Amino acid sequence: MINTENFGNIINGTEEMVGDESIVKSPVDGSPIASVYFADRDAVSKAIDSSYDSYYKVWSKFTLSERKKLLAKLADRIQEKSERYATLESLNTGKTLRQSMLMDIPLGIEHLRYFATETEFKMERQITHPEYPDSHGIVQYVPMGVVGAITPWNVPFLMAVWKAAPALLAGNTVVIKPSSFTPLTTIEMARDAISVGFPPGVLNVVNGRGETVGEELARNKKVRMLSFTGSTYTGKRITEITGIKKVTLELGGKSPNIVFDDADLERAALGVMFGIYLNSGQLCESGSRLLVQSSIKDKFLNLLKSKIEKMRPGNPMSMETDISAITTKNQRDKIEKMVNSGLKDGSVIFYQKSIDGSVPKGGLYFPPTILDKVSEDMEVAKEEIFGPVLSVMEFDDEADAIDKANMTDYGLAAGVWTQDSEKATRVASSIEAGTVWINEYHLLSAAAPRGGFKNSGVGRELGLDGIMEFTQTRHLFVSHGSTDQDTVAYGLVL
Ligand code: NAD
Repeated sequence: MINTENFGNIINGTEEMVGDESIVKSPVDGSPIASVYFADRDAVSKAIDSSYDSYYKVWSKFTLSERKKLLAKLADRIQEKSERYATLESLNTGKTLRQSMLMDIPLGIEHLRYFATETEFKMERQITHPEYPDSHGIVQYVPMGVVGAITPWNVPFLMAVWKAAPALLAGNTVVIKPSSFTPLTTIEMARDAISVGFPPGVLNVVNGRGETVGEELARNKKVRMLSFTGSTYTGKRITEITGIKKVTLELGGKSPNIVFDDADLERAALGVMFGIYLNSGQLCESGSRLLVQSSIKDKFLNLLKSKIEKMRPGNPMSMETDISAITTKNQRDKIEKMVNSGLKDGSVIFYQKSIDGSVPKGGLYFPPTILDKVSEDMEVAKEEIFGPVLSVMEFDDEADAIDKANMTDYGLAAGVWTQDSEKATRVASSIEAGTVWINEYHLLSAAAPRGGFKNSGVGRELGLDGIMEFTQTRHLFVSHGSTDQDTVAYGLVL
């Protein structure tokens, strides 16, 4: 355990234990695991000022390859300490240690390495101007300056990497505000960034609540871009206060997993289970709606149930446990409320895995649940539950599946399960979502852009597209001095 360890704000290369102390309790069993110091307004301004100065005076002098070398060093350092990162992440969020050890932390390290070695991104490219042959152009990809990054509580380390690494690679300095519930691994990453040689102020962390620290980042004029991941509700609020500032929004989802009758049902059942119960459903792209073809519905639900029966509840800190805790009390209550609303609306519980007596006392848990007979108008069909609750609906044919998949205001992700590859591509290409997995779910590649259609967001993370988000474009028009060109142009005013 990491009892009594203190975590401060990382400002200009120093960890500052100032501001209000907040005791972080683990959702695993309710025990206190750390003290975090929340930044007051002065500390937030100081962090932004130091990132601003550092951008102009120091970081802008680093070349792309120097920045990549530092990112690679950071990846190495985190790799050496990966067990500590995994333990912090699991204690803080309640996700199983197995998930942190085998997925969240190694994936974050791999993604850091991707940005450290990425070769497609260039700071500029040459163009010709077809209208003006006696000239050429240079298109420069200029950093935004200070980037404010706001992250949610469900996958804190990975989200911090997805924002900090491409932003730093592109030449920006970064001030991150992690969720006030789960700041530990983000602070640890900034500590490690200092220790491997990132200059002071290049990567700052300010702790605290959204309404104070988050809104200050959104509002402050020295912060030239805001990269936000969180709920659609907060995303809307942020766009009201940022003013003229570049904003990317990675928001919520209600993603469908569509299972056709010609799917490999064994694989599909595993994929659907993984899609909704990984991290106890607290993932933005969780496959929270099962759309199953009517002809196989009963068979498929029974197969799914037989798999969920085998999930092992227990202490998430044991490598044998399959079921993560729910990270916050509010979220636990929200899941319960949403399920009750679904039942009131006429849906029924097809299966709920018993976890009573198997999970630590004092922790926050919700049993894996399958909600059947869900219809399109119900809240549980349209709104994010963000918990281990699968809403089941059926469809008749391809067109019906597509209609039902696209019926929500979200458009983050989807899964399509069929052994007919043409149908798979046809259906996947009709889904209004930023990521569609075919016979797969949840697997994320650092090379693949990721983001939302509709209310699931604006902009992309990861891949070259994700790096480009952290730049603005400048065009240099270079004349070769042709008199013909000049004669036509200047002749308009002479
Ligand atoms: P949230 O919107 O409550 O909080 C997200 C972050 O915003 C936190 O750091 C919070 O402190 C901050 N915040 C809250 N109010 C703010 C305000 N007024 N101004 C500025 N910042 C503010 O979300 P959450 O509950 O932490 O996370 C769960 C949500 O995140 C879900 O909706 C989930 O779908 C979404 N999410 C999306 C993605 C994605 O990539 N699309 C990834 C992970 C999570």
